[in-house]
Amino acid sequence: MVRPYGENISHKGGISMYTVDLHNHTVFSYDGSNTPEEIIENAINCGVDVIGITDHQFSIGENLPAYYRYIRHCQLKYADRIRVLCGLEIGTRPAPPESLPRATEMFDYVLFESLDDERAMDFYEFLEWRRLFKCKVGLAHADIFKLGERYGADMLKVMRNNDIFWELNTSGNYIYYYDFLTNEKKQRAVKESGIPVSVGSDTHAVNEYRKKQVRRANELLQKLGIPLP
Ligand SMILES: [Zn+2]
Repeated sequence: MVRPYGENISHKGGISMYTVDLHNHTVFSYDGSNTPEEIIENAINCGVDVIGITDHQFSIGENLPAYYRYIRHCQLKYADRIRVLCGLEIGTRPAPPESLPRATEMFDYVLFESLDDERAMDFYEFLEWRRLFKCKVGLAHADIFKLGERYGADMLKVMRNNDIFWELNTSGNYIYYYDFLTNEKKQRAVKESGIPVSVGSDTHAVNEYRKKQVRRANELLQKLGIPLP
């Protein structure tokens, strides 16, 4: 049976019991080199309990319904071995097509990428976009503390009020991840804000899978008692 991705699966008593990796690319992305099955089987071998596929919306284009059906098919195929979620990574430079919120209604979640980038859409414009989405919405590889400074806003509060989760991106390409691993002040601030945090490997090829980093980030969130989305 495929359970919906609700609150009660991700944490018991506020503490996550699962190892999750909610950011992965397959051949549906221009830069992904593995099939969804290869990504999923690698995750099973690495002890991941919940794997999310999040191909690039701009690569998938008009094939979005086929992509959705394919990931749902994988969800059923692997249901007794791992939880598979259907996600999508949305580019913010430039803004995505207007039809996207409708087209992703049935998805488990979407990730907006790189909102801290100078060329990304304005954060308040993003908040307008966010309201149109019915599925869960997260921020992929964005330094929310840097964003908060740029906008002079308490970004944790803004995210909580707008029901947005944050991603700890373990790919090694983003400095904010290394900072968060050791910065107790930021860890406390996130914990106190109550916003959910996911772990995302941002994998584009299984032979580069950073299993240790994924595990370590999950363990940190569990230790801090930070909920999953
Ligand atoms: Zn990505």
